[in-house]
Formats: sequence, C-alpha cells, structure tokens
Amino acid sequence: MQSSLVEKDKLFIWHPFTPLQSSPDPIPIVRGEGIYLIDEQGNRYIDGISSWWVNIHGHAHPYIAKKIYEQALQLEQVIFAGFTHPPAVELAERLLGILPQGFSKIFYSDNGSTSTEVAIKMALQFWWNKADNNVAKKRNKVLAFNNAYHGDTFGAMSVSDRSVFTKAFHDHLFEVIFIDTPTVENLAESRKIIAEHSSDIAAFIYEPLLQGASGMKLYDASAMDELLKSIQEEGIICIADEVMTGFGRTGKLFASEYMINKPDIICLSKGLTGGTMALGVTACSQKIVDAFISDDKLKTFFHGHSFTANPIACASAIASMDLLEKETCFSAIQNIVRSHDLFVAELKSQYSKVKNARQLGTIMAFEIDNGKDEYLNNISRTITAQLLKKGVYLRPLGNTVYIMPPYCISTEELQKIYAAIVDMLNDF
Ligand code: PMP
Repeated sequence: MQSSLVEKDKLFIWHPFTPLQSSPDPIPIVRGEGIYLIDEQGNRYIDGISSWWVNIHGHAHPYIAKKIYEQALQLEQVIFAGFTHPPAVELAERLLGILPQGFSKIFYSDNGSTSTEVAIKMALQFWWNKADNNVAKKRNKVLAFNNAYHGDTFGAMSVSDRSVFTKAFHDHLFEVIFIDTPTVENLAESRKIIAEHSSDIAAFIYEPLLQGASGMKLYDASAMDELLKSIQEEGIICIADEVMTGFGRTGKLFASEYMINKPDIICLSKGLTGGTMALGVTACSQKIVDAFISDDKLKTFFHGHSFTANPIACASAIASMDLLEKETCFSAIQNIVRSHDLFVAELKSQYSKVKNARQLGTIMAFEIDNGKDEYLNNISRTITAQLLKKGVYLRPLGNTVYIMPPYCISTEELQKIYAAIVDMLNDF
C-alpha cells in the first residue's frame, strides 16, 4: 500500500531531473543517521552517492546540528549588502587559509550553479571593466570542455556540454568554444584552437580532473597542467569548478592541488556545508578583485541573492570544516581510497560486462556494457531498484555506475555496497 506521504507528494510536487510520467514513486525518507537514509517503514539504505554528492560527514551529524541550532538562536539571516556577520567572516578567513595559494576574496551565493554563474559573470566583467565600460575592445568568449557540466542556470548551461540536459534551450545559450579534455595526443590541436581565438577568450571554465554529471569521466593531471599553462600564457582567466571535487572528494582537499598551475577563480558548494545547508562560494585572486576597484560605479559587481552568506549556512560550513580538519576524517578518506582501489582491480579482472573501471579518491565508477553509453540508458533505474532491495542506494548516470559515499562510511559498509554491485553483475 502506498504511504500518504507518497500519495500527497505525487499530487503536489514536481521533482528535479525526474520525468513526470512513468517514474518510480519517490522513496519517503523520514530520517538520516550517519551513512543511512531511513524510510517510513524503518528500512535503512546506505547513501552510496552522498545525496547528490553533498554529504561528507554523514546525515544528521550531531555536531553540525548543534552549531546550526546555536546560530539559528543568535542570527538566522541578514541582508548581506551593507552588513556582515561573524560566521561569514570566520568562514571566508578559514577558506582562504585552506584553498590552493593565490586567492584573496570570497563571494558568497547559495548553490553550485550560482557559484559558477558568479564566476562567469566576474570573469566577463573583469574584461568589460578593463575595456573601460566597453569603450575599448574587450574579450567576451568563454572556453570550456566537451562533456562539461556546470549547473542548470542559463550561464552555467551555456558553458556546459550541449547534452540532453540542455537540448530544449540551445537557441538561448551563448556561444562557447569547446575543446576536449586534455591528452598528450590532443594538446597541440587544443593549443591551435586557443591561439586562433586568444584575443577574444575571456575565461576558461573546467571541472578539474573529473567531469561528474556527464558520467564520472577522468582525465590526466599532467596533460591538464600543460593545457592550463598554455591557457594562462594567453592571459585567459581560469575558473576551476570544484563544486563536486572540493573538500577531500578526490583524495586531496581540492582537485586543483593535483596541478601546478592554479586557477584565478574557484567555485565551491556541495561538501562546503557538509551537505547540510545550501551555500555557494566563488573565491577569486587579487588580479580579479583589482579590476573592480574603481570610482566608476558601473564597475561594481551587481550580483547578489536574498540568502547570500546566510548565517546558518555559514555556521554549518564552519562546523563541517572543523570535522574535515580532524585526523580521523583524513584517515577515513584514505580508507575509502584503499577499498575502492581493491574493488576496481576486482571488477577489472573478473567481470567482462564491466568497462573502464576507474577511481579518483573517494569516487569510483565503471560502465556496464549494455547498449549505448548515455544518460538516457534505462539500466540506471533497474540497478537502483535492485540495489535498494539490498539496502544500498546508488543512482547511476545512465549505464555509468558510481560510488561516492560520505567519508564516515566503514570498511564493512563499503563491502556491503561492493557485494550488492557484484550480485547485480552476476544476475546480469
Ligand atoms: N558544477 C558541478 C561540477 C556540479 O557537479 C554541479 C552539480 N552536480 C554543479 C556545478 C551545480 O550545482 P547545484 O546542483 O548545486 O546547482
């Protein structure tokens, strides 16, 4: 029998990324505890994808909950134009302390898409300001990777791959120069494209080392370093979208640490608050800031959201950082890295239906050899349903199965996910 929660949900709610016809019923979750999501009947599911990649310390974490409660009693929200508050200042100072070198200011927003939207606008206005309010010629094109995903707002969609996610809006997206993620073989071709357009390219946006939404696609750090060097030599502003890769996900605090050449702007969200509150951050270097320091009011960055730097969200981010900086969190990440490594080797050697098993830090992924490699591959639903019966929640991207657990997952709980995957492969 269907629960009243699900019945009412189906009457009143429109869910993200979910067809309104022929989709399975939503799962009514009433509680979270560590790595578990618990439904109305008390069934417990391991959250194998950290609730869309946001949760890093487990659900309903008592320390983060306490800090949120304390902040809510103190100051829940204040307009952030013309005002400031302690959690925003403390968080900004601490973030600047742990980000890869060279960042000097934090601009707050409230999700991943807004953090990239802000970055793109900042970079475009950098050149507009430098061209003295459009009097001189300015750079106004953006360079991005094929298969990129940077969010769902119009600017973020524009710099993302033209895919099933964006198809209905292609007429309305601004033009972007797309190149492939770097390999030793294609570097020369990419350099040629960049050189042809270099005096027009304002900014380059990229997901460092791992393209998430397009199917957990990995690329090489040393080739990326070469590419970044060439791009920076052309004076192009580099924007690292670390919305997914930030805060330890890839085994380092930030994926940008795998490269020598650092971005001018970095976008953060998801793990920033430990996955408890909506918050976005766009950090930028002094070079960017300098272009906005002017007596000319038109050179102001006219961008902001009602909930910019919400104090409760900032307090939850500070609490999450307290937990992240503990030695136990670092060793938990290392434990996932080691376990995934062994599982990837097992998949590679024993399962012919598995293609391209791979890993970066706490993320592992593979394709199931079943029809086209694409997001619309229906196998995703079958896998989710099959694994739920075993108490494991995964949400493959088409036929790309991946695990991205909260860091606090134990070895035994990881083994439970692996065993459920192996059972699924054996039934195939
Ligand atoms: N950038 C990247 C790399 C992402 O993975 C995502 C979300 N999957 C976003 C931006 C957009 O974040 P949000 O869903 O919070 O808008």
